[in-house]
Amino acid sequence: MSLGVFIVVLLVLTACGGADGSSNNSDNSDTLIGISMPEKTLQRWVDDGNNMVEKFEELGYETDIQYAENDVDKQVEQIENMIVKGADVLVVAAIDGTALTNVLAQAEEQGVKIIAYDRLIMGTPVIDYYATFDNFRVGELQAGYIVDSLNLESEAGPFNMEVFGGSPDDNNANFFWDGAMSILQPYIDEGKLVIQSGQTEFQQAATMKWDGNAAKTRMENILSEAYGTGEVVDAVLAPNDGLARGIIQALKGVGYGSGDQPLPVITGQDAELASMKAIIAEEQSMTVFKDTRDLAAVAVDMTEALLNDEEAEVNDTETYDNGEKVVPSYLVEPVVVDLENYEEKILDSGYYTEEELQ
Ligand code: BGC
Repeated sequence: MSLGVFIVVLLVLTACGGADGSSNNSDNSDTLIGISMPEKTLQRWVDDGNNMVEKFEELGYETDIQYAENDVDKQVEQIENMIVKGADVLVVAAIDGTALTNVLAQAEEQGVKIIAYDRLIMGTPVIDYYATFDNFRVGELQAGYIVDSLNLESEAGPFNMEVFGGSPDDNNANFFWDGAMSILQPYIDEGKLVIQSGQTEFQQAATMKWDGNAAKTRMENILSEAYGTGEVVDAVLAPNDGLARGIIQALKGVGYGSGDQPLPVITGQDAELASMKAIIAEEQSMTVFKDTRDLAAVAVDMTEALLNDEEAEVNDTETYDNGEKVVPSYLVEPVVVDLENYEEKILDSGYYTEEELQ
């Protein structure tokens, strides 16, 4: 080879190179990341998905993102397709945490790495990492807000409270419930918080598929059956914003929030746009803000560690046992947001703009 040709070859190699071994866009373009999300009706999953796609694409990866309309079979089919397309890593927020064992076993056989996103995937040893928020803490924050708002540490009370749970097929729902009950139960036992409906167990309070309309109907039934005699609801434990908004509708339907009957303290989770507006309108009391930008960043870091055969950063190796494996996890800290602090937490952090909240 002549010197000229040698130099040209060298230049070309260096340009394509990543000579220092670092990942750059051209290196990553043959790597496909499959992102399987549960549904689009809840805004948070759209944000989660967009944040991940943006971050992966910035790093030059190919992505295939699919939403499964809360249909378990559809999610399985979409994951199968991702495997066929040659996905290297799957990031999965499961609809039903127990329903993915077979499809993920197939993935693992093909050498695909698997990250459980937000919700733990149960009953399978093939999950490499779990990226989530501190789910127990979410429940504690919601319950703590009720305790503070009703001033339960004082002589005040007793107060009436109703409790709602999330979807029983979502492992997170148990954590939210257990976290909340760890704070509320002593007040219930003491008689300071009274659940007039008598529906005190998770199974009675759970809301299949996190359906806001189902929560509305359950609240309507409770109001007509347990609050016909002049009792009023002082607080509602709602595990997320979608359910909170359904519950608010039911309460408004029987006159809460107008005249001299204020709405009760109502919790939420996700800082959804509609609920941020409800907080500003003083209908919903609070939400638990889980910054999906941070969670997406954790999932991206885990993905890169898996692709480079490195250990990902985790901060919990004990809590999330899926029945087959204690999955190494990174828990992002959730944050209470209400009328007092939303400007700082939501606007100043750029999560929403002022226009969006109008
Ligand atoms: C998530 C919540 C969400 C709920 C309903 C849970 O697994 O952690 O943020 O509100 O699912 O989609």
